[in-house]
Amino acid sequence: MFALAHASSFLLRWLSTHPHVSNVHFFSDSSSSLKVIFKGTPHPSQSTSILFHTNFHRLFSTLPNLRVHISWVLGHKGIAGMKIADSLTKKAAKAKGPRLSHAASRSGPLLEIERNARSRWREHRESHPFQESSGFFPASQSIRPSLKPPKWFKTISHPDYSRYTQFATGHGYTGEYYSRFVPKNPIHCNCDQSDTIVQSRDHILRHCPLHEKGRGALRVQFPKLLNPQWSIHRLFQKSITPLLLSWLVASSAFSSTHAPRRREPPVTPNFRDPPAGVSL
Ligand SMILES: [Zn+2]
Repeated sequence: MFALAHASSFLLRWLSTHPHVSNVHFFSDSSSSLKVIFKGTPHPSQSTSILFHTNFHRLFSTLPNLRVHISWVLGHKGIAGMKIADSLTKKAAKAKGPRLSHAASRSGPLLEIERNARSRWREHRESHPFQESSGFFPASQSIRPSLKPPKWFKTISHPDYSRYTQFATGHGYTGEYYSRFVPKNPIHCNCDQSDTIVQSRDHILRHCPLHEKGRGALRVQFPKLLNPQWSIHRLFQKSITPLLLSWLVASSAFSSTHAPRRREPPVTPNFRDPPAGVSL
């Protein structure tokens, strides 16, 4: 679009010193630009359309015999001038100097905003590495920041995505989390009657019998899953995420219903008074 608009500006200037020229050919390999620039309806590069139409209006008003032929070409095939134009464009893009126009397409600044946000996010992440000893944010070491959601994101429910996040960050309904942040809550796993096993992320993932469903598929993929030395960082690889999600869904691990429960103290039998309705 910009190329067509600037070409029309160049033509306007050039024909002012070459008024005898009566036929001009434009070649473009962008069929979408050719379609859009002739449309009268609003579009993101409206300013280039306006410039293009204004230039041709002036040209045809001052040179009524002028004929302009605009053609679409397949890539740069067979047009020697296109190669030269390409190399000049690349050179100009790298050069510092005055801008040809103050007009900007909408997509340009949007792309710039996205690029800046992503690079600032990555810089922040790289300059603030998590302590390995913390272990609470292993996902951050494996998941690259991205502004586009992955494919699986649209296929899972909100509660399942919450549990994935809780598993990734360690912040969830687990005894391990309560021991650090909610000390008044019980911390032992509901599978453990003796109150000795802290309900940690590792325990839920590797050993807890309450979350066995679906673990078999994870063990097939990762035979060393039960080895405590095996880092769970590997579970956050992009290609593994669907498998991890299917285990979370099947096992209902990290849901609030599996949060450590306070056990009621055993009731001491009362041997003195008879049960209600019984008289001795
Ligand atoms: Zn357990």
